[in-house]
Amino acid sequence: MGNTLATLRRKEESLLFSTYGRYPVAIAEGHGSRLRDLDGKEYIDLLSGIAVTNLGHCRPEIAETVAAQAHKLVHVSNLFYQEEQLVLAERLLKTTHLDKVFFCNSGAEANEAAIKLARRRQQRLKNRYAYEIITFEGCFHGRTLATVAATGQTRFQDGFAPMPEGFLQIPWGDPEALKAAVGDKTAGVLLEIIQGEGGVRPASAAFAREVAGICKDRDVLFIVDEVQAGMGRTGKYWAFQHFGLKPDIMTAAKALANGLPMGAMLSTDETARAFVPGSHAATFGGGALVSAVAAKVLEIMERDNLPQRASELGVWAMERFRAVQDACPGSIREVRGMGLMIGIELAGPGRGVWEKLLQNGFILNLTQERVLRLLPPLIIEKQDLESFAVCLETILKAGAAR
Ligand SMILES: *Cc1c(COP(=O)(O)O)cnc(C)c1O
Repeated sequence: MGNTLATLRRKEESLLFSTYGRYPVAIAEGHGSRLRDLDGKEYIDLLSGIAVTNLGHCRPEIAETVAAQAHKLVHVSNLFYQEEQLVLAERLLKTTHLDKVFFCNSGAEANEAAIKLARRRQQRLKNRYAYEIITFEGCFHGRTLATVAATGQTRFQDGFAPMPEGFLQIPWGDPEALKAAVGDKTAGVLLEIIQGEGGVRPASAAFAREVAGICKDRDVLFIVDEVQAGMGRTGKYWAFQHFGLKPDIMTAAKALANGLPMGAMLSTDETARAFVPGSHAATFGGGALVSAVAAKVLEIMERDNLPQRASELGVWAMERFRAVQDACPGSIREVRGMGLMIGIELAGPGRGVWEKLLQNGFILNLTQERVLRLLPPLIIEKQDLESFAVCLETILKAGAAR
C-alpha cells in the first residue's frame, strides 16, 4: 500500500519476467465500465481486459456467485463428476448448434485442444494420416508452441525454432488460395470470423461461407476461433452465427467467466467421438468455481439480452465514429467491426493518439500500430462512447492543426 506507479515499476523489474510492454498505469480497482488507478484517477474502460470482462468489473451478482461457490467447492479435479460443470455445459451448448464441450483454462489451450481433436478425428476416425491445420495471414491463436505455429507471425516465433510441423498459412480473404492449399494432409481449417489482434478485420460473409463450403466438400474440419469475438461481443453469441455457419469445432475463452480463467472447445457429436478417456485432459479445466461463474455469466447475458445490446450499440458507435472520420479528413482510414468489437484504423502510426486518449481517461488498445481497438464491456453506456468520440475528434483535430 502507498505504492506509486514508479515504485511498482521498479519492483516489477526486479521480480517479473519482462514479457509485457505495460501501459503506464497501475489499476487499483474496477466497477462496471470504470477503472481507477493508484492515484484515484478514473478511466472509462473500452477494453474489458482484452474482451474478458464483458459484464463489467466486479459486478455484484458475479462477486456473490464467486463468494458462494468459494464457500462450497472450488476444485476437486476431473476425476469426479461435478454438477457445476454440467449446468454450464448445458447453458453453453444451448447457445450453439454443437453437442459436446471440453473445458480448459485459456484460449491457447482451447485451440490446442481443437488442433489435437482435428488431427485425431482424421487419424483415428477416418484412418487418414492428416495433420495439417490451415490458418490465415493476420490471425492470432495463442502463445503455446502449436498455437504460435498456427498464428504464423514471425514476431511471435522469434527464437523459438523449430516450430511444430503441420501448419500452413494462406492469404486472408482468398478462397482460391484455400482451395489450392487443402490436400491429403489437411486435417482442418482454423478461422477467426473477425480477426482481433490482426487489426479488427471481419471476414466477408462470402469468404466465411466459402471457407465453410470448401471444408465440407473436402471433408476437413471447419474450426472457428471465437476466443475474442465470442460471448455476445459481435452482436450474436458467436460471430459465425452472423453468417449462418455451422463449424465442426469452435473455441472460446476470454469472456467466458468474466475474468476468471476459463477456456472451452465445443464440437459436434461426430467429431467429439475422436477423443476417448485419456486422449486429452486439463487439471483445472471446468473446476467448480469457474464453472459456476461462467454459468452465471451466461444466465445474465441471456436475461439482459446482451448480444442484442452489443449489436445495437455497435451500430450506433460505428456510425458515430464515422462522423468523427468525416469531421477529421485524412485522419481516419476506416472504421470497421461487428457489434462492440470495433477498430478505428488511423491514417498513420497511432501511438500518439492512443497516449492522449489514455491521458484523457480512455482505456483501449492499439493493434498493428495504427488500429485503435475498442472492446468495451457489453454493459457500457452510450454516453461513455459519446465522450470517447468527442475526445478522439478533439485529439485528431489538434493533431491535424499542428
Ligand atoms: C486472446 C486470443 C487467443 C489466446 O487466448 P489466451 O487465453 O491468451 O491463451 C486465441 N485466439 C484469439 C482469437 C484471441 O484473441
